[in-house]
Amino acid sequence: MSTNLSSSVIARRLAQLSPSATLAIDEKAKALAEAGEPVISFGAGQPDFPTPSHIVAAAVEACGNSANHGYSASGGLAVLREAVAIKTFRDSSLEIGPKQVLITNGAKHAIYNTFASLLNEGDQVLIPSPYWTTYPEAARLVGGVPVEVPTTQESGFKVSIDQLEACYSPATKLLVFVSPSNPTGVVYSGEEIREIGRWAGEKGIWVLSDEIYEHLIYGDNTHHSIAAVAPELNDRWVIVSGVSKSYAMTGWRLGWMISTEEVIGAATNMQSHTTSNVSNISQRAAIAALTGHQHAVGEMRAAFDTRRKLMLAILGDIPGITCVEPFGAFYTLPNVESFLGKQMGAQKVRPKSTMELADLLLEECKVAVVPGEAFAAPGFLRLSYALADEDLYEGMSRIKDLFLGAVD
Ligand code: PLP
Repeated sequence: MSTNLSSSVIARRLAQLSPSATLAIDEKAKALAEAGEPVISFGAGQPDFPTPSHIVAAAVEACGNSANHGYSASGGLAVLREAVAIKTFRDSSLEIGPKQVLITNGAKHAIYNTFASLLNEGDQVLIPSPYWTTYPEAARLVGGVPVEVPTTQESGFKVSIDQLEACYSPATKLLVFVSPSNPTGVVYSGEEIREIGRWAGEKGIWVLSDEIYEHLIYGDNTHHSIAAVAPELNDRWVIVSGVSKSYAMTGWRLGWMISTEEVIGAATNMQSHTTSNVSNISQRAAIAALTGHQHAVGEMRAAFDTRRKLMLAILGDIPGITCVEPFGAFYTLPNVESFLGKQMGAQKVRPKSTMELADLLLEECKVAVVPGEAFAAPGFLRLSYALADEDLYEGMSRIKDLFLGAVD
């Protein structure tokens, strides 16, 4: 009865949204932790550091200033839009004006705004997989049709022009491009990005470039924005970014989208009827983040890099696991397919999927990981290394023990 009722009550676009594949594991992990179990979570999609103190201080000061107590411009404070323009030139060598910037409630909101601004019913969106699960759902919400472009571990999860070409159709309107990527950690070179931009330019399609992890890049790799390196795109790009990951500010909900004045004008108009301005306090904090000293960004990056190496070293000690070295963000995506069907743990179960394996890891080892099914990557697990060194070592040791004990 209630199912019928809800299916007739809830709008079709919402009724067809997939529930998050991570939710079940997440809920179980929380329940175990609340029951006093020593759960270690590799599920976090956010830095484990507090927001740097000079940013917090700017927010505290902003709270005391009544100028921040009322509504402000829907598109964002002029001084913050200017700061984003300056930052974009500083970090991406891309010259833009403040009218090309919209301040949003996190990068996730900027992604939704981008799809809502550009997609008509039935427009197809190319999404290289493994992908962050929000892209297809957000595209569907506005009537877009997500089209998965599968990449392979052998090519380091980098999408090729041939793979894009195979999935392109006259209904394709937009390509989602993300570097560094969640969940693969892949970072494309400037030349690879330019090639993809050139291809999209030839096809006349738009590119949404998600650059939220732009400051979390390791080794000799560097950040390149497709908007800067591929003039062939002819201004058909939208950059999405924000302060969440670089400045440990996920809870402040502050992101932005950058595009042509026409696209930003349309998205700002929509925002004026949906959310209005992002919290003025968060905007003031973001100004401090972007214009203040950048020491903390480098310190957090160095800490993540150390943990990245530790996690890769332990994964490398487990025969049967293979893992592409990630050079960005804070995730590894080990391939554990060879363990599916093997007998594992004291319960002597034989997990048939990475979903079941994640369940086993939680129940037996008290370790939470995200199964690859959440990212269209069955056979893989996503492990975040945004957690304290001791926890990382302890959790990885538990995982290693479980895998080393697997038998045919
Ligand atoms: N883009 C990617 C690739 C992400 O992984 C995330 C968060 O996990 C976001 C965007 C969303 O960022 P925000 O917290 O600013 O909404």
